[in-house]
Amino acid sequence: MYSAQRKKILVTGGAGFIGSHLCERLLQERHEVFCLDNFLTGEKDNIIHLLDNPYFELIRHDITMPFFIEVDQIYNLACPASPIHYQQNPIKTIKTSVMGAINMLGLAKRIHAKILQASTSEVYGDPFIHPQTEDYWGNVNPIGPRSCYDEGKRCAESLFINYHQQNNVDIKIIRIFNTYGPKMQPNDGRVISNFICQALKGEDITIYGDGNQTRSFQFVDDLIDAMILMMNTDKSVQGPINIGNPKEYSVLEVAEMIIEQTKSKSRIIHLPKPEDDPSQRQPNILKAKETLKGWKPKVELDYGLQKTIEYFKRRG
Ligand code: NAD
Ligand code: UDP
Repeated sequence: MYSAQRKKILVTGGAGFIGSHLCERLLQERHEVFCLDNFLTGEKDNIIHLLDNPYFELIRHDITMPFFIEVDQIYNLACPASPIHYQQNPIKTIKTSVMGAINMLGLAKRIHAKILQASTSEVYGDPFIHPQTEDYWGNVNPIGPRSCYDEGKRCAESLFINYHQQNNVDIKIIRIFNTYGPKMQPNDGRVISNFICQALKGEDITIYGDGNQTRSFQFVDDLIDAMILMMNTDKSVQGPINIGNPKEYSVLEVAEMIIEQTKSKSRIIHLPKPEDDPSQRQPNILKAKETLKGWKPKVELDYGLQKTIEYFKRRG
């Protein structure tokens, strides 16, 4: 039977780590989901269990090329997110952020769909303001190795705001802080996936620099809750809004927690810190709590790590 509540929803980057969790949740909420991906960093295995669902459609497409579909909502997540992946082909990363945003915003304008942009805490660069509030303009090196991602995402935010102001498109921007959980790729070089895979194999745990740099880690389920709440705010809300878990840990603390939880014999070793690696990062989430009524991150790092370790053990 047709449900009036059932929306048609496009998720770009739907086969990636966050996108696949989002597709899964939207289907659980009885929506019809169109998952678009070019499989640059996404994996069929992330969504294979959804393929039999008649309300799920997988589309292989690259968002740097125009795309047309009739939907009610668009979540724009397509973009490699880990530094080793987005630095492999920096020009493509910029094209994905910028041309992808133009294509998806053009589509949203034409079909009158709501559109949410997965922006990033990286728009703050190596921040001078701590914790980061949304009104901070950031400290980004425009020509450094991270700039293809940071500046691409900053330009996408500008495009979103301008499509709203000039064309009245119903836009939402969230700035996602470091997120982890099952379905992260083992080889994507991010700190939690790296440390867990190293610990499980008994390999050296590679800390870049002294390990005193900090990050605030959000479990993927908390992010998905916030994304859906944000998409369903009314037209007066555009963001940007920080979405993250403000509890801050040093990279060294994370390594120690993972060694303890996996009961690993791995040793910690120190390697050089990459250029422009931010020294601290913590979201101020007051705006998110006010806007997304009732939302706050619920999952503690201890528990989230346990779930992620179980995933990597199953994956083998
Ligand atoms: P991911 O690499 O697992 O997923 C990105 C997906 O986009 C992949 O499936 C990839 O194949 C697809 N993709 C890349 N380029 C594409 C293109 N040109 N056309 C179509 N599909 C394309 O990364 P993720 O961690 O799931 O990140 C999803 C989004 O969230 C990204 O936009 C990222 O910038 C943002 N984000 C993630 C984090 C995080 O901690 N994971 C933090 C901030 C922002
Ligand atoms: N990091 C590390 N060892 C690793 C991978 C990452 O010490 O094997 C550090 C990295 O230098 C950074 C932090 O962990 O300071 C988070 O890195 P990640 O790539 O996960 O996220 P981002 O730097 O984009 O926030």
